[in-house]
Amino acid sequence: MDFDYLFLNQLDSLREEGNYRIFAELERKSGLFPKAKCYDDEAPNEVTVWCSNDYLGMGQNPKVTQAMKDAIDLCGAGAGGTRNISGTNHAHKLLELELADLHGKESALLFTSGYVSNWAALSTLGSRIPDAVILSDELNHASMIEGIRHSRATKVIWKHNDPEDLDRKLTAVPANAPKIVAFESVYSMDGDICPLAEIVEVAEKHNAMTYLDEVHAVGLYGPHGGGVSEREGLADRITLIEGTLGKAFGVVGGYITGSTALCDFIRSFASGFIFTTALPPSVAAAARTSIQHLKESNVERKLHRERVEYLRYRLNQEGIPHMDNPSHIIPVMIKDPVKCRMLSDYLMREWGIYVQPINYPTVPKGTERLRFTPSPLHSLDDIEHLVLALKTLWRQCAVSQAVA
Ligand SMILES: *Cc1c(COP(=O)(O)O)cnc(C)c1O
Repeated sequence: MDFDYLFLNQLDSLREEGNYRIFAELERKSGLFPKAKCYDDEAPNEVTVWCSNDYLGMGQNPKVTQAMKDAIDLCGAGAGGTRNISGTNHAHKLLELELADLHGKESALLFTSGYVSNWAALSTLGSRIPDAVILSDELNHASMIEGIRHSRATKVIWKHNDPEDLDRKLTAVPANAPKIVAFESVYSMDGDICPLAEIVEVAEKHNAMTYLDEVHAVGLYGPHGGGVSEREGLADRITLIEGTLGKAFGVVGGYITGSTALCDFIRSFASGFIFTTALPPSVAAAARTSIQHLKESNVERKLHRERVEYLRYRLNQEGIPHMDNPSHIIPVMIKDPVKCRMLSDYLMREWGIYVQPINYPTVPKGTERLRFTPSPLHSLDDIEHLVLALKTLWRQCAVSQAVA
């Protein structure tokens, strides 16, 4: 068997579809967010990153980086073990207390990433709760889908952000079966936000547990960055809130929060929690500093909203179509994988603007897009530069379409 031949063959079909993934090789410049050095010979040496999930630039916040350095000086580079075998550092416990407090829950549990937290928590709940039925929003993130699949629990998919469909699907499940409703607050591809109160109400009516992924909301929404559930005053009615330390908090890691019994259950049974080295204490310390900062400070959140609003306003003024939504994510639909990649390359090379093309399977075929995430650290000049680039591109596209 020529394995490489098989691999290359499948990669070729990916290329033909325009869905082959090319990573931009960058070097982020600390203190100069959102600027990065670009290692593409055909692009300018310095580019502006327009698609980072470090939504507030907290990854370069001096308090956060200092906390990380201090913790390295104190503890060294790694945790030294799994949480069970010598790897639980004081910094991990402090971070878990901080996270429980952020969401007003009894307890929290850390994981090496948000992906792992979803995968581990859902697979443990689904497999350990006898006869569990998991009701999953149809647009849930891959990490939730994989966790549910791995659990082998019965899975029912409900229509995206549709509480009425959820109600129907819950009604069809045997009344005595334990039910888990799994969904997200902010969906990061369309930037839409779930009707949280309605979903919670439906779940409560059917006695179902609620599992909420707030990955794209923590740090950004709610007066303390506790996410959409904090903003809506509903956190205490959600059974489990899951989040990441890698997006708005700017570091890396994932977590769940909930009752002490729930967290202890996952801690004790989740293979993805138990059999892996704990996060470096420096990461835990930096994440805690970032969370603490965003609990106290609204400056970043306010400026973030203003920048997002301003970019939308400018795009509207220039007639550049973008998807309207109530979040901080601005998708510009291209609807073709090859064109999407071409536009992205062109923006990078001609304009020093980095926006990754979002293609299948991240989004459905035919909905390929560029996805812009303005931060409080994008200047008004950065925004004007982007708008000018898009305006120029759109004009050229219109011309080429007219000729064709
Ligand atoms: C990114 C993402 C995750 C995974 O979080 P990481 O910390 O990056 O592993 C989970 N859920 C959603 C909705 C995400 O977008």
